[in-house]
Amino acid sequence: MIICKVCGRHIENDNANFCENCGESLREHSSFEYQEPVKPAVQNTIEGASNEIPFRTFMGVLLLQLIPGVGWLIYAIVLVTWLLGNQYSQTHKNFAKASLIMSLISLVGAVFLVSSGYFPLS
Ligand SMILES: [Zn+2]
Repeated sequence: MIICKVCGRHIENDNANFCENCGESLREHSSFEYQEPVKPAVQNTIEGASNEIPFRTFMGVLLLQLIPGVGWLIYAIVLVTWLLGNQYSQTHKNFAKASLIMSLISLVGAVFLVSSGYFPLS
C-alpha cells in the first residue's frame, strides 16, 4: 500500500503511478526518497558523537595534579602520552599541548615568585 505524500490518501494498488485522489505522481516521490542519502549522515553523526571526549576524562586528568607527591608526574606522563601517541585524537593532543604549556607557565611563574621572595619556602 502507498500513502500519498500530498493528500495522505491510502492507495491500495502498489503499482499505481499517480494518486487517485489528487493526481500527484507517486513514482517520482518514492524514488526520490529512496535516493536520499540519509544513512551516511546518520552514521557520521554517531561516529562524531563517539569520538567526542567526555568531560570526565579531561576533568579526571586535571584532578591528577591534586594527588600529593606523584600527582604532577602522573599528570605530565598522561599528557605526554596523549600528545605523542598515534592512537589518540587531535582533541586529546590539543588539550594535552595546552595543558602542558599552562603547567610550564605555572611552574616558571612559581619558581620566579619563590626566587623573588614572594612565597618564602621556609
Ligand atoms: Zn494524493
